[in-house]
Amino acid sequence: MAKKIVAGNWKMNKDFNAAIELVEALKAAKGKYNTDGVSLIVSPPYLHLTEVLKVAKGSGIEVSAQNVHQEASGAYTGEISTEMLKSIGLEYTIIGHSERRQYFAETSSQIAAKVSAAINTGLTAIYCCGEVKEEREAGDHFKVVEAQLNAEVFHLSSAEFEKVVIAYEPVWAIGTGLTASPEQAQEIHAFIRKQVASKYGQSVADNTSILYGGSCKPGNAKEIFSNPDVDGGLIGGASLVADDFLQIAAAFN
Ligand code: PEP
Repeated sequence: MAKKIVAGNWKMNKDFNAAIELVEALKAAKGKYNTDGVSLIVSPPYLHLTEVLKVAKGSGIEVSAQNVHQEASGAYTGEISTEMLKSIGLEYTIIGHSERRQYFAETSSQIAAKVSAAINTGLTAIYCCGEVKEEREAGDHFKVVEAQLNAEVFHLSSAEFEKVVIAYEPVWAIGTGLTASPEQAQEIHAFIRKQVASKYGQSVADNTSILYGGSCKPGNAKEIFSNPDVDGGLIGGASLVADDFLQIAAAFN
């Protein structure tokens, strides 16, 4: 069975003190919510990772990077490698977020290389895919997601793929207040699981966590998470408020 995961993507928000306050608030409020059986992950900006890891240690809150470079080391000014992330004790990194694709021109081949680099270093890749508004309106969302999976993660061996968490994030729903309906989410999550099953077999597919991302809030999480193929969420805006994030995670119980 796929692990239930609720991961918060803080994006470029929170200065150092505010980031530490947010982890402290999550630790303090965690007991108020029933998040049993749900892995909680937070993804702060790079600068705060070491301290957030330290503060989160032993709390059951895990930590992820938001991005990583595909090369192990070298002349890549401003970049961070998978080895560096691993060396501070990190276990996860988000890869292929739509904002990386849109604002930093990340290509499918870069994303595929990042996924391989992360997995070869022993990290779990929280790999994002999803269609833009025009593609959804044209009815091309299945085709788009299938092409992304083929180009960006299906080069992995079956053993490697077991270190991939998929986050389906319809780009039109990210930060817009628009959300995929529970039916739309279930339909495409089931489609993704079917693609994984065709490539790696049913057992790998059944064990793959497929998260939904896109304006997921305390008010709609229960409905979205109640779908059989939705194994959790990648949460942007609502992950910046401790109670909202925990309430979303508690929507499973
Ligand atoms: C995201 O950026 O991954 C995301 C899902 O953002 P939001 O929840 O704010 O739509």
